[in-house]
Amino acid sequence: MTGNTTFTMIKPDAFAAGSTGLILNKIIENGFKIKALRLTALSKEKAEAFYAVHSERPFFNSLVEFMTSGPIVAAILEKENAVENFRKLIGATNPADAAEGTIRKLYATSIQYNAVHGSDSDENALIEGNFFFNQFDRH
Ligand code: ATP
Ligand code: MG
Repeated sequence: MTGNTTFTMIKPDAFAAGSTGLILNKIIENGFKIKALRLTALSKEKAEAFYAVHSERPFFNSLVEFMTSGPIVAAILEKENAVENFRKLIGATNPADAAEGTIRKLYATSIQYNAVHGSDSDENALIEGNFFFNQFDRH
């Protein structure tokens, strides 16, 4: 059985372009409930940890630089079969390959500046959500 929770980030390119509201609206229109939401920014250490799986890739340093270049919006989302449904809604990693109507087709500008993140498994959705949200956080 698949889980009903995924994790997303609106990346610095989309935040800087002012697309946050439209992207959140698209997510809601597609039946996802926002369970947690936070405007924040990644430190170099956090970005390196978040993308540790890509540390040997040639684009790793560039990716970390991009992901620390400005504010991001982190969110935990709920819908049935959340991970797969959300990956479908965001589209292919490279916006040139993304299907019409997907978030990356609409708001991404390159394979690196691709507007949003979506968890790739139930296990990673939980790890990534916990990375940004703590039930004891209070301000
Ligand atoms: P994400 O994990 O952000 O949801 P993804 O799962 O579609 O994206 P990954 O293969 O996990 O893609 O790559 C992580 C991120 O690294 C991409 O979203 C993109 O920002 C960047 N990236 C991936 N491939 C390249 C590349 N060839 N050149 C530059 N940046 C890349
Ligand atoms: Mg990924």
